[in-house]
Amino acid sequence: MATAMKTADAGALLAQEIAGEFPDRRGRFGPFGGRYVPETLVPALDRLEAGVHRWLKDPAFVAELEHELATWVGRPTPLTHARTLSARWGAQVYLKREDLAHTGAHKINNAIGQALLAKRLGARRIVAETGAGQHGVASAAACARLGLPCTVYMGAIDTERQAPNVGRMKLLGATVVPVTGGDQTLRAAIDEALRDWVADPDGTYYLIGSVVGPHPYPYLVRELQTVIGREARAQMARQAGGLPHAVFACVGGGSNSMGMFHPFVADRDVALVGVEAGGRGAKLGDNSATLTLGRPGVLQGAYSMLLQDEHGQIQETHSVSAGLDYPGVGPEHSLLQATGRVQYEYATDDESLEALAECCAAEGIITAIESAHAFASARKWAATHPGSRILICLSGRGDKDMPTLQKTLLKGQA
Ligand SMILES: *Cc1c(COP(=O)(O)O)cnc(C)c1O
Repeated sequence: MATAMKTADAGALLAQEIAGEFPDRRGRFGPFGGRYVPETLVPALDRLEAGVHRWLKDPAFVAELEHELATWVGRPTPLTHARTLSARWGAQVYLKREDLAHTGAHKINNAIGQALLAKRLGARRIVAETGAGQHGVASAAACARLGLPCTVYMGAIDTERQAPNVGRMKLLGATVVPVTGGDQTLRAAIDEALRDWVADPDGTYYLIGSVVGPHPYPYLVRELQTVIGREARAQMARQAGGLPHAVFACVGGGSNSMGMFHPFVADRDVALVGVEAGGRGAKLGDNSATLTLGRPGVLQGAYSMLLQDEHGQIQETHSVSAGLDYPGVGPEHSLLQATGRVQYEYATDDESLEALAECCAAEGIITAIESAHAFASARKWAATHPGSRILICLSGRGDKDMPTLQKTLLKGQA
């Protein structure tokens, strides 16, 4: 089992990770990752892999991506010194403001990058799947920008729960298909999106929303999201006078955290902490703390940690934040956990909501509930590391969470 990896193996794997050797030729991050897909998808994934290697290094592609990030997404996003939180926590707290990126979160970095890649690969249309709707909105916006038709599959239950995001996607010109089969949530939507892609793997591009799925997606999404960590690293040096002592990011599928952590992995003195959704507590079914409480297995085309029962059945998950409510996690995180380079822990629903309230009052920023999980852990760390420099990835803004906040933090208030 991953967590029982021998120290010697862990050291060697971490050295390989730092040397940039992962994913290897088989699409693996040590024992994790790979490609567990139907035979019909292999040629499409091979073509995608060749395209990723070609275009991500192509100067004209890179220039066009950087232009879109600067003039349409709004990058670089600022680094904010959280003055009041710093005074209260007894540490210097800095916030990387992905909430200020277009559409309100880091997801747009990935969506615009993959949509540009799809064009280069000759795709005529995009398919995506979405749970809470945030990735669907980012995909719809990127496709509108580039003139690509976009179909978003969404579980029928989620289309009801996330009606405002369905409206946003429609305004942005996407076709939203409610999926009535299976569990009628994210997993059913993923199955439908894959089915659509298999039907026309040449003309259709499958735009995945996190560092998950079969190779090369975890690598591709990581490369598109590391702009977060690269900017933050330079901004810390300039504004804070040095690298952070610790970096915190929330972990759902793992894309904002991977994008933030990856440029710091070689800086062994920088503590990296991934914060999962602890939900109502540690009981199976009450949380989405995949790395902290899961076991390895195969989900969505890759071998990684996942939440499953003793028979290997994928477990129902719970979190107050829709964006963290997912039973799997990207394979590179499983490696970073097994090697001990990143520490993973969880914050509960209540701890996260409390942290969100504190950030609103102290800094004038309504964070997404997802991001608030990172604040909850950072605050605990500050208590035992006085005077340290802390960097938090503020992955998104909380406007989308108002219905949940009305029912929780604002409950009973006039
Ligand atoms: C989707 C989302 C997340 C979780 O996704 P990751 O792939 O783990 O980053 C976190 N924060 C916000 C604001 C999101 O929208």
